[in-house]
Amino acid sequence: MYPVMLDVKGRSCLVVGGGGVALGKVEGLLVEGGNVTVVSPQVINPLEKLADQGEIRLIQRAYRAGEVAEYALGFATTNDTQINTQVYEDAVAAGVWVNVADVPELCTFYLPARIKRGALQLVIASAGGAPFAVRRLRQVFDRLLGSEWSEWIEAATRFRNILRERVAVPAKREKSFDQFFSSTVDARRLVVHVPGEEEMEAWLPGKLEGSEAGRSPRTGISKPEETRLTSGFVSLVGAGPGDAGLLTVRGRQRLLAADAVVYDHLAETVIPCELRRDVELHPVGKKAGYHPVPQEEINRLLIRLAQQGKRVARLKGGDPYVFGRGGEEAQALYEAGIPFEVVPCVTAATSVPGYAGIPVTHRQEVVTVSLVTAHESSKEGGPQTRWDLLAQDKHSTLVGYMGVISLPQTVERLLASGMDPETPAAMIERGTTSRQKVVRARVADLPGAVLRSGVRPPALFVIGPAVRHSEQLDWFGSRPLLGERILTPSGGEESVVDALELSGAEVISVPLPVSPAARIVVSAAPLTGCIFRTADEVEALEDERALRNWGSEVVAFCLSEGAAAKARNLGWACVEEVLGEPAGEELVKRIGNRRVAAQRNSGME
Ligand code: SAH
Repeated sequence: MYPVMLDVKGRSCLVVGGGGVALGKVEGLLVEGGNVTVVSPQVINPLEKLADQGEIRLIQRAYRAGEVAEYALGFATTNDTQINTQVYEDAVAAGVWVNVADVPELCTFYLPARIKRGALQLVIASAGGAPFAVRRLRQVFDRLLGSEWSEWIEAATRFRNILRERVAVPAKREKSFDQFFSSTVDARRLVVHVPGEEEMEAWLPGKLEGSEAGRSPRTGISKPEETRLTSGFVSLVGAGPGDAGLLTVRGRQRLLAADAVVYDHLAETVIPCELRRDVELHPVGKKAGYHPVPQEEINRLLIRLAQQGKRVARLKGGDPYVFGRGGEEAQALYEAGIPFEVVPCVTAATSVPGYAGIPVTHRQEVVTVSLVTAHESSKEGGPQTRWDLLAQDKHSTLVGYMGVISLPQTVERLLASGMDPETPAAMIERGTTSRQKVVRARVADLPGAVLRSGVRPPALFVIGPAVRHSEQLDWFGSRPLLGERILTPSGGEESVVDALELSGAEVISVPLPVSPAARIVVSAAPLTGCIFRTADEVEALEDERALRNWGSEVVAFCLSEGAAAKARNLGWACVEEVLGEPAGEELVKRIGNRRVAAQRNSGME
């Protein structure tokens, strides 16, 4: 077999037959610009449609002897052996190349399986002997070769054209071609890096000696063979449990430096509002009731962004490696040859109880902390968790992730395995955030209490003796302004933010004009108020207010008469002038008063 690629553009091709197989051939030929005639007494609808649209010539009758001789290429796709044989014999006699579908003996050429990435084609063939094996191999390579190969072949073509212009002697071009290839292709993993113009320039002659070649365009540092192919980089950043203040210093740096941020739903409140305005923002999180982006797709997205040479921050709730599938993402990056790092952060099991007044280890009471996922309980084949052992461990704290729905079963198992029904327990929803909700009960009563109070995921259960401190040490839940979520244009006095936060309010400092990142943070949960210093600030947020559909209960706390006048003017229903000093204390007092008044009102109803 001698492989060739036929340029069928404008060539007349005959397809005998009008079924699905014929359609496949017709479509393949049309894509490459073939001039197609179909001969068949009957044809399926799509072929008829193509004929109506003038894409093909349709002759609705039986094949006539010798007819194929007028064409450059012949295909027979009928299930009539006689017609197929006739087409074959006519073609051979006339010197026309012919293919009878699925009959290797009646072919003078075979159609290989192929993978197409732009101008790049990978062709797999078995001389017609084992199409099943070819089809499966095709699938294997199809998965291996990402769409970036198409850009790569374009870059390679550009590179060759430039080189041909600059270097007259062909032999002198090879060194540059080698450079291009070895710098962009990881042959072992079939991973490719699409080079930028600057990078390519470095591989052209004249620049080779003492050049930048082989170095990372970003850092200028030589990278080891393994990682040299991609200038992109992924940071798997832990976002912590939801309080933006718990993001690590390193995590924040990585987010601010990122070209692209891929974030989970649970991490939305933690995104720094000052992210670059041109940063790519990719939400991939699950939201109860909505379909999450499948993990596979997230992995592919991370790889694709990195292969485009981008700095990527993958922001994940809590710690990336604790029940967060961060390990799978790291694995996928490793396999794709993408350099990455992990920026750990506080996980829900140690931070959420802390905000609910529970020291997860308490001297002389607790010597073990177990972090379990209750999610797998509902999996096929039953739970892998040894609830029986956990139930027996009296000096331990049991912290359960993803355990709201399965709580009744979990508790039943624990009690059946000998856990004391009096053991103190708690369920904490959205711990560390303005919407934190804590339900406390003895373990036997926890499922009922959770049901009555309407706790919903994300929530964490904590079971063990340490939970009994919860009410006494409830520093966060007892803050007077817990539940307030207040926006303020950034650049104000630190002391105002500090006073509000110490009183339990969540404060979001938003740059003006509002940044795309800030929009995500603001929409992540309902607002209760805004603080304005000037009329301009009120004005600057007006579009957002309309866009986000902020409820009329959002209060405009105005630190100047001008701001208050503007807010009233623009139709804010609740405007409060706060002119006393210091502004922070004054605000805390006013917001507190409003809450008391609101409670009194709801009590009277
Ligand atoms: N990687 C995360 C856990 C992801 S699994 C971490 O290290 O914390 C998601 C589960 O974490 C939720 O279903 C819930 O059980 C728990 N969780 C995360 N944040 C939480 C929060 N603020 N309050 C309560 N539970 C939380």
